[in-house]
Amino acid sequence: MQTTTPAAPLSLEQETNPWLAQAARFDEAAKRLNLEPGIWKVLRYPSREIIVHIPVSMDDGHIEVFTGYRVQHSISRGPCKGGIRYGPDVSLDEVRALASWMTWKCAVVNIPFGGAKGGVICEPKNMSEGELERMTRRYTAALIEFIGPEKDVPAPDMGTNEQTMAWVMDTYSMHMGQTMTSVVTGKPVSLGGSRGRREATGRGISVVTDQALKHLNMIPSETSVIIQGFGNVGSNAAKLLWDKGYKIIGIGEYDGALYNPAGIDISELLEHKARTGTIHKFSGAQAFDKDAILIEKCDVLIPAATENVITSRNAADLKCRILCEGANGPTTPVADEILSEKGIFVIPDILANAGGVTTSYFEWVQDRMGYFWTEDEVNQRLDRIMIDSFNDVLHFSIAHGVNNRIAAYMLAIDRVAHTTKQRGIYA
Ligand code: NAD
Repeated sequence: MQTTTPAAPLSLEQETNPWLAQAARFDEAAKRLNLEPGIWKVLRYPSREIIVHIPVSMDDGHIEVFTGYRVQHSISRGPCKGGIRYGPDVSLDEVRALASWMTWKCAVVNIPFGGAKGGVICEPKNMSEGELERMTRRYTAALIEFIGPEKDVPAPDMGTNEQTMAWVMDTYSMHMGQTMTSVVTGKPVSLGGSRGRREATGRGISVVTDQALKHLNMIPSETSVIIQGFGNVGSNAAKLLWDKGYKIIGIGEYDGALYNPAGIDISELLEHKARTGTIHKFSGAQAFDKDAILIEKCDVLIPAATENVITSRNAADLKCRILCEGANGPTTPVADEILSEKGIFVIPDILANAGGVTTSYFEWVQDRMGYFWTEDEVNQRLDRIMIDSFNDVLHFSIAHGVNNRIAAYMLAIDRVAHTTKQRGIYA
């Protein structure tokens, strides 16, 4: 009789390593696709990883040196595309994972970009506007030969915003001797940004949530939603879903949460946050525990903050029907298995939050044409792409008998593998 030794359980550190999480899903999808070994190796690893150490003069006169990364995963389907993250926990493995997720995300929504990501280890909350500007410009200068409208097009991510993109665009333009707005997306509208970009990720989330409801025979007015993260993605998703009649019963932040089973007035909460700088002490909901909010009963749970918030430690306690991943990498592969067993309908990150990069693509197109669309035109195009992509993933999942996440990876890998083979391997 043959006996098999069970694999040793992963430590939480291994389970939550974003690069390993990405690689686990990639390997499973590649295996199911029967991907040929050479292409498997090409697509598994980033094509370029750049590390820079950037000196910055701080306001008090001392010089600080920050470590920054840019990882370019694939240019198979077009120029690299991906955000820049500022934060104390930024690491090469995280940036690597985020870069490859960008490749898969762009392929899922079928836009002509490869994937990249950047990051700088810093605490933006403790830096002045001047320090952030000098750090951003020096980081851009260090990467000047690697980025560009036809090479690699950055965008905002956690800790960066429209102003950061304006500085990147200006620095790049100074080096090129001409204004080149299409080097970044997520810029202010007055500098070549696209109408609708700020809300686009939240909008995409609301569109795929609508589609999931349709698929599961549910209706918005009887659907309760809990959202973790009330930043760009979470607050816009909350507002758009609330406008459509969904009941937003919980909002989580890193330092506490809000809960109101009768529904939170999101318009008032946005005003409260604009006025006080926080969601806390809002009179329209009770204070709640930040971890407990994730496992509170709801129909739709939207993690829209950061990675690894749904792990082997809490996945079994989730009480949602639909998990719509606004953040990148909120769920670990071990948690995936638990969610599958529980029958939770997962809209995976590389589909759910692809509205942002899709409208970034529109921004890049508009900048290169020098002709700008109305917000309605942008939104209609975005809605069409999100609906089609949701259906593509759902059909792939049914046809191959896999969960939505593996279906999204399979669809994406298949598309990238196809162009990689068509281009051939340059020798
Ligand atoms: P953001 O910085 O605007 O907002 C993040 C919010 O989450 C903040 O309010 C922050 O306080 C909160 N937060 C951080 N850590 C938390 C924690 N552990 N628990 C609860 N709340 C926490 O960032 P964003 O642009 O909204 O991005 C959020 C996520 O969505 C990230 O994973 C990002 O990579 C992903 N994403 C963003 C976009 C985009 O267009 N901005 C597009 C695709 C994916």
